[in-house]
Parts: sequence; structure tokens; C-alpha cells
Amino acid sequence: MSQEFAGKTFLIAGAAGFVPGHVAQFYLERGARVIGLDNFITGTRETIEILSAYPNFTFYEQNIYEGLPDLSDEKIDYVLSLASPASPIDFSRIPLEIMRVNSEGTRLLLELTKDKKARFLEASTSEVYGDPEIHPQVETYWGNVNCNGPRSCYDEAKRFAEAITMSYHRRYGVDTRIIRIFNTYGPRMRPNDGRVIPNFINQALRNEPLTVYGEGTQTRSFCFVDDLVRGINAVLMSDDPTPFNVGNPEEYTIIDAAKIIIKALGSKSTIIHKELPEDDPKQRRPNISKLTGATDYRPQVSFAEGLQKTAEYFRNLSLRS
Ligand code: UDP
Repeated sequence: MSQEFAGKTFLIAGAAGFVPGHVAQFYLERGARVIGLDNFITGTRETIEILSAYPNFTFYEQNIYEGLPDLSDEKIDYVLSLASPASPIDFSRIPLEIMRVNSEGTRLLLELTKDKKARFLEASTSEVYGDPEIHPQVETYWGNVNCNGPRSCYDEAKRFAEAITMSYHRRYGVDTRIIRIFNTYGPRMRPNDGRVIPNFINQALRNEPLTVYGEGTQTRSFCFVDDLVRGINAVLMSDDPTPFNVGNPEEYTIIDAAKIIIKALGSKSTIIHKELPEDDPKQRRPNISKLTGATDYRPQVSFAEGLQKTAEYFRNLSLRS
């Protein structure tokens, strides 16, 4: 364990979630104190149990859009806004919760940041680009979002979250950062998360058919969670309040990702096709030159290595259950 962040306190909203749980562990491993908030709408108690093994971790079970716990006695250095359901299966199930956490929840976190004179980070998303007409996506692209389609509860909520973050920065001088997270995968995703990598890995491990939506010609660029966490930290510690893409620019068609996973796991699975969801973006790949130019961030984990690590997690999970 290093002491790089000893004496610093990070408030992490959404600490029981997949990405936030890894972010919390990154700072705990480096000597920080972490205060986690979550209401378990999509996060897991297992993640909080893992974090609770660190003596410097404190947890509050709280729905942040209904209010924050009393933190008046706390010195807080960093506020990380990572509390939003983000899987497309959540968009039809809990759209209003997604909109409320990214609007009122984010506003309350920004107020706290202002009071504490802390630094704020908004975890935005590649979804702000919608079904992009510019490829790869660069931060200066304003996006192509259907503002009332089935994904709009998330896309527009995150666009609002970016807007309110910049408004606090411009109006009150709050020290803010914005990241746009591209597709991320790794251990501790929920097996029933609904996203493509956990679906395909779990189907492959069970030798069941992999469910490719549509023809599978749509593309995504997959980032292993450890790389993403390094990217988040690089932006948080930088001095630029404008948005940064964070991800891995290696791009795959979904059909190729399915074939790679079957082969890598030595699976007997076949591929079947299911209906393509409405407004499913046709291509997605981050241009990360802004991030690599401003920081020493470089993705380090190959797709092959990340898949094996993720599959190992799901294999162990199925042995335990
Ligand atoms: N997808 C798929 N099969 C699945 C799950 C997803 O073919 O079992 C496709 C989905 O239609 C999309 C891509 O994989 O084109 C990535 O979907 P995901 O839900 O992981 O996240 P998104 O990038 O759409 O937010």
C-alpha cells in the first residue's frame, strides 16, 4: 500500500457500483480516506463489504437525490459524482431515478463541493455523443442524441450533469473536472448487468449461444476497468475543467467481440442474433489524444488479458453460488 493520498478524503457517490467500487479501492490502496454513498439501486453489498475491509472506509446508505448525510464535521478534498445506473437495461426499468440522480443528485454534490472548497469530478459518458456522425469521437463534437428516445433518460441526464458542472465552475469558480467514460468491463460487473461483455462471457462460460443484437456490425471500444481508473485519476489530478474522453481506442465490431470471446474461453457456444435495440449507436471509439497529451495516461491492458481476468471473476462467482 502506498501513502500517495494519505491525509486526503474522497467522497464517492455510487460507491457500491462497478466503476466507483474500483475507484474507491484505488484511493484506499494509496492511503486515502474514502466516504462512500449508495442506495444499492444497481450497486452491490458485496462491493461495500470489500471496501469495508479498509479501516479508512466509511459508508452511508443513502439515495443522494433525496439529500446527503450530515458531513458538516468532515474535511473533504475530492467529490466524485459516480452515482448513476448506466446499463441500457436500466434505461427502461428506472429512467426517472437516472434523471433525478444526475440532476438533483449532482446539484447536491456540487453544493457540497462548493461548501467544502473541494474538487469535483463528474463521470459523464460517451452517450453524450449519441449515435455519432464523427468517428472517432473527439471532445469538441457536440453529439447526435435523440432527446426523447429510449436512451434519452441517460444521455440527456448526463448532458445536463455536464452543464450543471460547468455552471458551478463558471458561476461560483468551483474546481471541477469532467470525464466521458467509454465502454468499460472487468471483474465485479453484475452477471445480469445486461451489457455486452458480461453477457457474452457468461454465455460463453455456460456454452450457451451468444446473443448478438442485430447483425453485429455496430462497433464499441472496450476499456479494462483498471485502465479506466488510472484515466479517471489522471484527469482528476490534472488542471483542465473541460471534458476528457477516457477509454481504450481499440475498436471491435460486436460480432468480432463475440467470436474473440468464444475462442479465448475455449467455449462451445454458437452465435444467435436478436433484435437490435432502438437508437443503438452504430459506432463508438474514443479519440484520447487530449488525455494522452495532457497526462501520462496510456491504456495498458489488452482485450485478451482483460477478458481472461473478467472471465476468471465470473467463473469464481458461479462456483460460489
Ligand atoms: N449487445 C449485444 N448483445 C448483448 C448485449 C449488447 O449484441 O447481449 C450490443 C448492443 O446492442 C450494443 C453493444 O452490444 O450495440 C454494446 O451494448 P452495451 O449494452 O454493452 O452498452 P452500450 O454501448 O450500448 O451502452
